[in-house]
Amino acid sequence: MTADDLPIRIRPEIAALPPYRQGKQAGPESFKLSSNENPFEPLPSVVDALRAADGVNRYPDATASRLRHRLAERFGVLPDEVHVGAGSVSILSQLLLAAAGPGDEVVYAWRSFEAYPGLVLIAGATPIEVPLTSNGRHDLTAMAAAVTDRTRAVIVCSPNNPTGPIVTQAEFDALLAELPPDVLVILDEAYAEFVTDPEAVDGLRTLGLDGRPNVVALRTFSKAYGLAGLRVGYAVGHRRILDAARSTAIPLSVTAHSEEAALASLDAESELIERVRVIAERRDRLVAGLRAQGWRVPEAQGNFVWLATGEETSAAAERFEEAGLIVRPFAGDGVRISVGEPEAVDKVLSIAASVVEDLPEDHPGRKLA
Ligand SMILES: *Cc1c(COP(=O)(O)O)cnc(C)c1O
Repeated sequence: MTADDLPIRIRPEIAALPPYRQGKQAGPESFKLSSNENPFEPLPSVVDALRAADGVNRYPDATASRLRHRLAERFGVLPDEVHVGAGSVSILSQLLLAAAGPGDEVVYAWRSFEAYPGLVLIAGATPIEVPLTSNGRHDLTAMAAAVTDRTRAVIVCSPNNPTGPIVTQAEFDALLAELPPDVLVILDEAYAEFVTDPEAVDGLRTLGLDGRPNVVALRTFSKAYGLAGLRVGYAVGHRRILDAARSTAIPLSVTAHSEEAALASLDAESELIERVRVIAERRDRLVAGLRAQGWRVPEAQGNFVWLATGEETSAAAERFEEAGLIVRPFAGDGVRISVGEPEAVDKVLSIAASVVEDLPEDHPGRKLA
């Protein structure tokens, strides 16, 4: 037996998964633009709330009820229609475990969030990946057509990570009308706060829980609120669906510190909204600059941009990294770059200008002249 052989039996679909490798950590000289984190320091009031939270010898409140009540009030729903998890990814996992098992299918767009294929396989279900359109958008007509009687869930990511475009409310409503009403629809809105397109789907404002009992909206404090390191996200949806997610959750994984920081962030909403506005403006400046250089950049509505570098992806990522910019390459497909500090945006623009010049004239990452 070599060190690479499995010493025990592992479910084959799990053994076949690539082990999780985090995006590169940035050295002191470089900008980390690989995980869509918020470049701002935590707010002083959030740091104070963390300092004040004591009692780490005690388990946290299992259902984060203060935060649930607070979010419920804010969105005009009942506290049981909100579920808090250690990051919205953990809620996604809970919902998939609850809804889909061996023999079942889960439909989502591809390329989309890297976590989807693994979480579907871990649940024992079969991923059904529906290609994005050439401009990085969900093809909801094709997604509806991919639904069969084995489909237990459909995941919609708006804005789509890593390409950037939103799904419109009209497209989303049309999808719901096509789907059997007992199929769970997970609307992953991790970047909702950065959206400036008024046509975008808004799970919380418009879904009205009565009319759409099969839809669950997922949101997070990781991105716009800048709490990625604390792991706290939430779902809003039908109480009975969220009960199923509560059943598959690992108990007590949302810490008291996460809950306090999330509450303090909701108290500081206006400051955070101002930061989000600044990031969205930086994003728009970045996109405009890239397009002016000749890049074909899909609509960017999150806190990141997508360069469709195709076969040139690894080489392009290296060029950024040599310049101290840690970006997220998806081999053979493209590079996702988070909107970071203003100096980082300038640096991205200067490296991107030289990368696009070296792409062949007919490269798909280039705007057709
Ligand atoms: C970042 C992200 C999440 C959420 O992450 P958590 O930190 O687990 O809340 C969920 N979905 C998408 C598409 C993301 O990019």
